[in-house]
Amino acid sequence: MKKKAIEKIPYLTISGENKHKGAKYVGVTAFKNISKVRHLFLEVYRNKKGEREVPIVRIVLTKNDFGNYFPSENVWTSQKIETDYYYSGTALLWNTPEERKDTWQMEEKRSVLFDEKDLDRIKNMCTATAWNGMSWWKYIYRQEIEIRSEKNRKIAERKYERRRQALNDRELHTEVLPAQRILDWADKIQFREKHFLYYKKRGCWVQIACSRCGRVDERRWKAGISYESNFQKFVQEPREGEFGNCPLCNARGEWKCQGKVKGWHGITNHLFLGQKYKEKGMVVRYVEVSKIWKLGLTCGENGPEMENASEKLTETEIARAYFEPDKSPQIDYHKCDPYTGEDFWDDCNLSGLANINIREAAIMPETFENIKGTIFQYSAIKEYAAENIREINLVDYMEAYRALPQIEILVKMKMIGVVRQLIQNQGAVAIWKNMNRPDEFLGIKKERVKQLAEKKGDMKFLRIMQMEKRMQQNWSMDVIEGLAEIGAERGKLEIALRYMSVKKLLNRISRYAKWEYGTGCITATARLKEMAGKYMDYIYMSQMLGYDLHNTVYQYPKNIEEKHRERVMESTQKEMDIRLKEVTEKFPLIRKHYRALRKQYIYEDENYIVRPARSAEEIVIEGQTLHHCVGGNNYLKKHNDGKSYILMLRKKNKPNIPYITIEIDAKTEAIIQWYGANDKKPDEGKMDKWIKSYVVRLRCEKKANKKKERLKIAI
Ligand SMILES: [Zn+2]
Repeated sequence: MKKKAIEKIPYLTISGENKHKGAKYVGVTAFKNISKVRHLFLEVYRNKKGEREVPIVRIVLTKNDFGNYFPSENVWTSQKIETDYYYSGTALLWNTPEERKDTWQMEEKRSVLFDEKDLDRIKNMCTATAWNGMSWWKYIYRQEIEIRSEKNRKIAERKYERRRQALNDRELHTEVLPAQRILDWADKIQFREKHFLYYKKRGCWVQIACSRCGRVDERRWKAGISYESNFQKFVQEPREGEFGNCPLCNARGEWKCQGKVKGWHGITNHLFLGQKYKEKGMVVRYVEVSKIWKLGLTCGENGPEMENASEKLTETEIARAYFEPDKSPQIDYHKCDPYTGEDFWDDCNLSGLANINIREAAIMPETFENIKGTIFQYSAIKEYAAENIREINLVDYMEAYRALPQIEILVKMKMIGVVRQLIQNQGAVAIWKNMNRPDEFLGIKKERVKQLAEKKGDMKFLRIMQMEKRMQQNWSMDVIEGLAEIGAERGKLEIALRYMSVKKLLNRISRYAKWEYGTGCITATARLKEMAGKYMDYIYMSQMLGYDLHNTVYQYPKNIEEKHRERVMESTQKEMDIRLKEVTEKFPLIRKHYRALRKQYIYEDENYIVRPARSAEEIVIEGQTLHHCVGGNNYLKKHNDGKSYILMLRKKNKPNIPYITIEIDAKTEAIIQWYGANDKKPDEGKMDKWIKSYVVRLRCEKKANKKKERLKIAI
């Protein structure tokens, strides 16, 4: 839109006699040429004396664009003339909020065009699908939708083109994959140059097929009784799963019985190769390598005969992660077009189940050389890999390092646990990103850094050390080790420490558990954790229930298991009391209407009795006892408001024990749902039948009652 030029054009104004007395708004149009482009002007005026000079809004349309100018505020906007999908009514640009609630029929009377020619101009400009009889603004609205979608399509096209060019550029600057080197390395390191020696025994003879040299040979594995047999070629006796040497090429291989091989078998592995990309960037290539062994068989007189054997290595590049200075990482994925069968690279992952995952894998050693001079020169990846970590997700590592360069120091200090956690999930460790000193960065006391490094950056210790600083405590290393072993949580620990020292707390837990700290025994740690959880829970609940925890009798009970159980019961009882009080106040009509509803809904036969709920409390207790959700506020509200009712179906000989709960529609008597304990349907077939016949009876009675009422009135 040429906004400045448009603003310079004088307003069209409305003049002459007022033909539209009943209308509140009048629209007037004109064509104007701006820079040789035809523009349609639509100006909407308030139909009032003194307001016919300056419009509320000037809407300007060309073939490809549109915009709205509001003179009073001197602003341009780009909404369409009508709001999309406004609930119920029609909402036009100049409508007040009140008017927006009205229907289009009302709007047609309120907003009119000055004369016939205005509609002609609009129809002339707006060629989008339109039919006669539409509200006049709809022509403009539809045209605007088309302009907008055409614009969006062009934007999407440009965006796609840019993406494709960037992808091509990346491919162009990526080195050719050194396939042979990858296969050699993978065979040596990942497959350990594994070969198979297939064998089939026949008496004292054995036939051998070697996957390395591919040849087949026949040897004696057991000496015969004949004289000549002593001069025949021997081989040590093959045994499934054991290793031997090929009698022909001498390669070492695993014996595999021919009968156990079905055609081929193989292993698949993954590896990372990092290469320099452009000036200082890096591309991490994620490659799948497979080794497949194959045994060739032919049909012989006595079943299958071994003909030859082979092995094959293959590599497929799956993904490439590009890292460049000042750019966010970009991962390209190798895909295959299912229709043409052609391979191609794409800049986004597949969705859903076909999603390509980059996992931990081995890193090829040249990667550590290639990072020199790139943004990863100081990433310490070589040092990290040297820490006995065979498989690393290199892409995740690099991403974590880009976000948190402090990883370099952490690795060099051997805080491996923390680094491992950061690679997996940068958000899982509470850290202060903009800090550089390790103690500040990790949020621990300065003197703890060395101790944490001695623990190899174990996350258990980091969590406790962070807690120590935040709680402004000063713990001994024994205490930190103890707290790390029980995996203390901050909230409950803080409450416990209000009543006892941390040493006392740890001692008591140890006494309850009947185990010492730091034994390194899994059973001990598990037991300590369990008792710590129970004891701190007990303290927490006791406090909530108002026990005086300064009193040692409460603070340090002899039998913690029993006391813990007691507090759990008390807590639930207390919660229940609060809940019952709440629903009684909130849903009083359930109790109030009980008598009236009872008349209508009660029914019993020799086995069962069904009746409406007496009160909100009863429904809550029913839900609690049967462990289903009927005690929830939505059911209570529906019953209270008379929309649906909760009925209680019980066995006649046990009328006070909840059995089945029914929700029934108040108007139609349809069963909305019925459930027994734990959202299950006990005795389903029989009970379903029973409930259905109950409904039929209800409906009949209702009809009969209505008839009676009508008769009464008639009389
Ligand atoms: Zn061989």
